[in-house]
Amino acid sequence: MKHNEALQMANSPNLKTYSADHLHLVGDHHVATSKETPVCPEAFEVSEEERMAKIALHFREIMQTLGLDLSDDSLRGTPQRVAKMFVKEVFYGLDPKNKPEVTLFENKFDYNQMLVERNIKVHSFCEHHFVPIVGRAHVAYIAAGKVIGLSKINRIVDYFARRPQVQERLTEQIAEELKKVLQTEDVAVMIDSEHMCVSLRGVKDEQSATTTTSFHGKFLDTQYRNEFLGYALQNK
Ligand SMILES: [Zn+2]
Repeated sequence: MKHNEALQMANSPNLKTYSADHLHLVGDHHVATSKETPVCPEAFEVSEEERMAKIALHFREIMQTLGLDLSDDSLRGTPQRVAKMFVKEVFYGLDPKNKPEVTLFENKFDYNQMLVERNIKVHSFCEHHFVPIVGRAHVAYIAAGKVIGLSKINRIVDYFARRPQVQERLTEQIAEELKKVLQTEDVAVMIDSEHMCVSLRGVKDEQSATTTTSFHGKFLDTQYRNEFLGYALQNK
């Protein structure tokens, strides 16, 4: 892109522009603006191949702007590799077509106690800096008649994690989806994670971790909540 085009794009009325103060307030404090991930649905009407080609083109520009020589054998394929990783791996959860199908089973054992799935891996990206968020999710529900295959809980967590995210929103999105598929309000989600934007840049704190929780239905009651936390915090 020519310098003039870049300037035009930056000044386009379609792009919201923010003052440095606003960026500081929102970006560095990792505030989420809504429960839904802000997406433009029409983006997914374009095929994966087309999206990858476009991203590769723009990533090449970024690398060149940073001063890298793309004719070097080691760097030549990087724009395509990054584009493929973005679309098919780390951000596949943006595309509604990739949402996991969930099959429910009859609760034949009449198990009406809490079910806790612990230490589900969370690999996400901070939407303000595009660097990794790595952690674990602990999820619980009390069956309202139907139960879900355990690996499906992991798939739901993974689907919502694989987008540019804010941890609070990720926690809520997992809880809302579980409530919907399990047809119950009795859902709890807790995520513990390390944010590379805190360890790698900014305050460069390598020890800190972030915990977020989303309690619903019976889990708003202290007794259920404490039971869940007792399981979730095991082996910590
Ligand atoms: Zn960040």
